[in-house]
Amino acid sequence: MTIPSCSIAIIGGAISGCTVAAELVRAGHNVTVFERSQGRLEERGVGLTMRIPTLEELKKRDLIDYDFPYVPVWSRSYARPWLEKPSNDWPWDVYWKEPVAIHAAHWGVLYRNLRKRVPDAVYKQGVEIINLVQSNDSTVEVIAADGFRESYDLVISADGYDSIGRRELFPDADRQLTNYFSWRGMIEEVDVPRPEIFEEDIVFFGYEGGHGFLYFVPSLEYGDGNKKRRLNWAFQEAITDKKIPGVPPDKNGNVQARTAPGAATPEQISYCRKYAREVFPSYFADIVDLTEQPFTQPIRDIGVPGYVSGRICLMGDAAIYARPHVGAGANKALEDALDFSDAFSEYNDINTALRAWEERRNPLGQDLLELGRSLGKHIVTDTPDWYTLNQSNMTDWWDKVVENHFWFWTEDVTNWHPTGGR
Ligand SMILES: Cc1cc2nc3c(=O)[nH]c(=O)nc-3n(C[C@H](O)[C@H](O)[C@H](O)COP(=O)(O)OP(=O)(O)OC[C@H]3O[C@@H](n4cnc5c(N)ncnc54)[C@H](O)[C@@H]3O)c2cc1C
Repeated sequence: MTIPSCSIAIIGGAISGCTVAAELVRAGHNVTVFERSQGRLEERGVGLTMRIPTLEELKKRDLIDYDFPYVPVWSRSYARPWLEKPSNDWPWDVYWKEPVAIHAAHWGVLYRNLRKRVPDAVYKQGVEIINLVQSNDSTVEVIAADGFRESYDLVISADGYDSIGRRELFPDADRQLTNYFSWRGMIEEVDVPRPEIFEEDIVFFGYEGGHGFLYFVPSLEYGDGNKKRRLNWAFQEAITDKKIPGVPPDKNGNVQARTAPGAATPEQISYCRKYAREVFPSYFADIVDLTEQPFTQPIRDIGVPGYVSGRICLMGDAAIYARPHVGAGANKALEDALDFSDAFSEYNDINTALRAWEERRNPLGQDLLELGRSLGKHIVTDTPDWYTLNQSNMTDWWDKVVENHFWFWTEDVTNWHPTGGR
C-alpha cells in the first residue's frame, strides 16, 4: 500500500526539510525544497543532543553516513564552586550525578549529511516563500518573494520557528516569550585545560538566575577525531532591570533579538566574559574567555493545536517549538520527518496518511512543549538554592520537575546505556 506519486513542496531545507525530502524523493514523489538562506548553512551551527535510537534509524535508512561522528554522553553532573577545601583534584564540587543515554552531535555535520542526500535538482536555495493559498481542489499554491508561484498536492512547512505555514494555519498559536536568553559558544578541544573532566559527561552549573552547561561535540572539519572535538557551552541570563549590549527588551520586557555566530561586538564579548566570571567557577569562566565569538539565542516556545490543515502540514520547529532546555529540537524534527515518510508508505491516500501522522506526532510535541516550560521554570526562572541540594534530595526534586513527561535523556538509559545505568 502506498500513495501514488504526487507533487510536494517543502518550505525550509534544514533538518526536518532535508530528511523528509530525501525520504519522499526515494519513494518516487515529485519534491521541491525551497530554502530561504544563501550560503553554507552548516557553518552556522554548534552542538546538539540526540537520541541514540534516532541516530541508528537514520543510519539504517542511509540518511546519515555509517561513520557519522558523535560523542557519547553517559552521565550528567551538577557541580558548584568548592566552598570548603577541595576533597579531590576536580576544579568544582560535583554534588549530583545520574546516568543519561544521549549522543552529542554537531548541527553542521548533521545538516551536511542530510543535505547531500537531497538531489541538487530539487533543492532551490535562496528562495523565500512568502505566501500559501489553499484551493478547494486539494492543492496549495506556493508564492515566493521573487514572483515564482506554483501549485502542489501537498505543502510541508519545515521552516522553523517563524514558520509561514504556522502563520497561515494558526495565527493565534500559543507563543511564550521569556525575559531570558542564552549565551552560547564553543572552543577547540586542544584549548580545553583538562579535557578528561568532560569525558562522556555533560556538566551543569546552577546559579541564581539559571544554569550553564558544557559538553564535547564533534567538529565540523574533523568529526570526533582524537583531540579534534569542540567543547560546546551555554548559559542563560535574564534581562529584567539590566542593559545588556545587543539584547534589548521588546515592549513587554522579553527577549526577541539574537546575535548570530560571528556577529557579536567587542562590547558584547567582554560583557559575556565578565558575567560568566561573576556566576561560574573560574574554570568555566576561563572557557568562556577562550571563546572568540560567543553568540546569543532568545529562549521562547510555541505550541499549535494541530499539525495539519487541508493540504498544509507543519513539521519540526514549524509545528511545536519547545524551549531548548529539553535538548530535543533536532531530534523531534528528525522523528517528525521519519514518521511522516512512514505514514506515507503505510496508507494509500494523502488525507488518511496526514491524519495518522498528526495523531502520532502532535501529542509527543505537546509533551515536549510542557516539559520545556517546566524546565524553564525550575532551572532558570525559579531556581532552587543549589547549595542545599545533594545526591538524594536532588533526585526527588528532578522527579517532580520532569513529572511524567517523556525525556529521552533518561528514558533511553535502560535500553541504550552501556551498563543500563546501574
Ligand atoms: C543555520 C541553523 C543552525 C542551527 N544550529 C543549531 C545548533 O547548533 N544547535 C541546535 O540545537 N539547534 C540549531 N538549530 C536549530 C535546529 O535546527 C532546530 O531547532 C531543529 O533542528 C528543528 O529543525 P527544523 O528543520 O524543523 O527547523 P530549522 O532548523 O529552524 O530550519 C528551518 C529552515 O527553513 C528556512 N526557512 C525559514 N523560513 C523560510 C521561508 N519563508 N522560505 C524558505 N525557507 C525558509 C530557514 O532558513 C531554515 O533553513 C539551527 C538552525 C539553523 C537554521
